[in-house]
Amino acid sequence: MTNDLSQESMRDMYASMGISEKIYEYGERTLQTLEKRFLQIDKRAEYNQLKVVKAMQDCKVSEACLLGTTGYGYNDLGRETLEAVYAAVFHAEDALVRPQITCGTHALALALMSNLRPGDELLSPVGKPYDTLEEVIGIRESKGSLKEYGISYRQVDLKEDGSFDWEGIRAAIGPKTRLATIQRSKGYQTRPTLSVAQIGELIAFIKGIKPDVICMVDNCYGEFTETIEPTDVGADMCVGSLIKNPGGGLAPIGGYIVGKKECVENAAYRLTSPGLGKEVGASLNALPSFYQGLFLAPTVTAGALKGAIFAANLYEKLGFKVVPDGQTMRHDIIQAVEFGTPEGLIAFCEGIQYAAPVDSFVTPEPWDMPGYDSQVIMAAGAFVSGSSIELSADGPLKPPYAVYFQGGLTWQHAKFGILKSLQRCMDKGVFPREKIDAFLSDSGQTVV
Ligand SMILES: *Cc1c(COP(=O)(O)O)cnc(C)c1O
Repeated sequence: MTNDLSQESMRDMYASMGISEKIYEYGERTLQTLEKRFLQIDKRAEYNQLKVVKAMQDCKVSEACLLGTTGYGYNDLGRETLEAVYAAVFHAEDALVRPQITCGTHALALALMSNLRPGDELLSPVGKPYDTLEEVIGIRESKGSLKEYGISYRQVDLKEDGSFDWEGIRAAIGPKTRLATIQRSKGYQTRPTLSVAQIGELIAFIKGIKPDVICMVDNCYGEFTETIEPTDVGADMCVGSLIKNPGGGLAPIGGYIVGKKECVENAAYRLTSPGLGKEVGASLNALPSFYQGLFLAPTVTAGALKGAIFAANLYEKLGFKVVPDGQTMRHDIIQAVEFGTPEGLIAFCEGIQYAAPVDSFVTPEPWDMPGYDSQVIMAAGAFVSGSSIELSADGPLKPPYAVYFQGGLTWQHAKFGILKSLQRCMDKGVFPREKIDAFLSDSGQTVV
């Protein structure tokens, strides 16, 4: 060691946090195999950091932009400049970035409801959309759904291997087709997440058949995982949540819609009121966290990506199915691990909770969550309630007993949380500890 931190003091620190030498060593050996990939992630973060700073400089962000407005919020310099910054980052014509957009689902509902009219048809060419959108669309009956307003819906599933069903999509596009919704992230499904390049191909195909179809991308969890965004490959709108990647962990609320001027304008008139649009909507005290969060978002996302890859590799070597696998390129920050037993899922979530900076002393328990057909367990000890860019995990208590986890505001915290989950799983007999012994002796050093 050439620096002043000895291996021993690091081990001691981990030991004081409940991580055994065996788990620590297993983690370190695994990390050694990931150096190249981590370097690649750091390069992307570096590029994206510059992209964000460039946008802030080009838009002349000033100290005055950090002040908020109250009441109607007319002439809100900070809000208007922030929206220009988002438009610049996404290379889009316009943006709506507001604390009045309550969450990702709200942002998506807003984009859909404001750009569709009675008689139009919505198409999902990538299979079933995110759970909460089922009620927005009216796939599940709901008050105020698109269906109630006479907007029909058509879906073309992905093929077995996760690829697009080109012929099915061609057949589904008709005279009523007005908008295509494309979900980038797998969300809580086991299909692959789409790369931006794949999204580009899909948009080109759709526009080749019917040029006036508005192509909207649900960008949740995807922002800054690549150096381009869907608006760089032809998307008319990109939509997401500020308590995920682009809020950088600091935004306490909010959502965004970026894209074509007309699409964003429609959304603004729906969010506030016809005639008022973007001109109103006080930013209150939200602006400093929106700016600073966006500034941090590339590195925060990079930390979360490293955590996902680290976990995939640790659990894959122990024989668990992980989605995506340890080698695959990432296009979002969600990692799934299939345990096959409720004990594994529960132990994992307990470990994540015990690693949290907030509420580390509570034990998560499965509960009957509204809208789900089985119990669900959730682990989150976040500074911002429900924030899933912070280290968090959840899963339904039904086969294959998969946990979905994501986030970590720093790579170091993601690492600790994952080791803590692994320790908990080992201590509770979710996998035999001999598996780790075998790995450690195979990789040629003394078992600790
Ligand atoms: C999180 C998420 C949403 C919904 O966002 P909320 O903020 O939870 O309402 C929609 N789509 C995808 C793919 C998501 O990951």
